[in-house]
Amino acid sequence: MMGAICGDILGSTYEFEKVKYEDISEIRLMNDTDEFTDDTALTLAVAEWLLYDIDKSCDDEELKLMLAKRFVTYALDKFDPSQLGFGARFWRWCCDAKILHEYAPIHSYGNGAGMRVSPVGWFFDTLEETLRFAKLTADVTHNHPEGEKGAMCIAAAIFLARTGKSKQEIKEYLLEEFAYPLLNETYETLRKECVWSEICQDTVPMSVVAFLESDNYESAVLNAIAYGSDSDTIADMAGAIAEAYYGGVPEELLNFCRGRLNEETLILCDEFKKRIKA
Ligand SMILES: [Mg+2]
Repeated sequence: MMGAICGDILGSTYEFEKVKYEDISEIRLMNDTDEFTDDTALTLAVAEWLLYDIDKSCDDEELKLMLAKRFVTYALDKFDPSQLGFGARFWRWCCDAKILHEYAPIHSYGNGAGMRVSPVGWFFDTLEETLRFAKLTADVTHNHPEGEKGAMCIAAAIFLARTGKSKQEIKEYLLEEFAYPLLNETYETLRKECVWSEICQDTVPMSVVAFLESDNYESAVLNAIAYGSDSDTIADMAGAIAEAYYGGVPEELLNFCRGRLNEETLILCDEFKKRIKA
């Protein structure tokens, strides 16, 4: 999940820049302006839910309510919410949940479903469980079929990457299971033709392709930023898969990004890492 958090931080400066980079060597990583955003906050909420709430005796409705409450805490209480850049609809959902205790999902297919799911890709021993819990994380708010698909696609890609599947095998599985037409395109075509987007149908396959055509973690993040689209979230999702495939985040980037997180967050990240290695 550090792959996602680092992608969010490294992409944050470029979120609204809307510049398509033909040459990724023109992109500078580790800027003074880099900060974590909503993507990281909600990823942490999912990690905490997996670590402390998941109980086999709970039914799906109970599990979703527990995650909903963690989303609200992470969105409104843990950090300064004005720094996180939440989407308007998600923000309204959080406020209704906190004040009115109204947790009805909002049928969203925004890429929030994909950017927060990475801990699920690491937590379970089977692809079946990975898909089931990825769908649950989406359903708290993003219960549109495309929202569910976005979460399941990213979590499945992480699961397959960390269990030793090749890029070709990952691509074939995702195409067969999720059938995103954009997955058939090359990175160059997507970069040239994409317009700024923050919906799953565009940004999830764009993230996968940024990973598929990368050489290492850093180039996956650079590919994601070079689209000139929703950079923090696309770098978050591409980075999440790249971390799983390449076996981690390079130390220099990791240390830079850890320096952007507070003590409580670092403890949770380390706790999660310890648990998934156990
Ligand atoms: Mg963001």
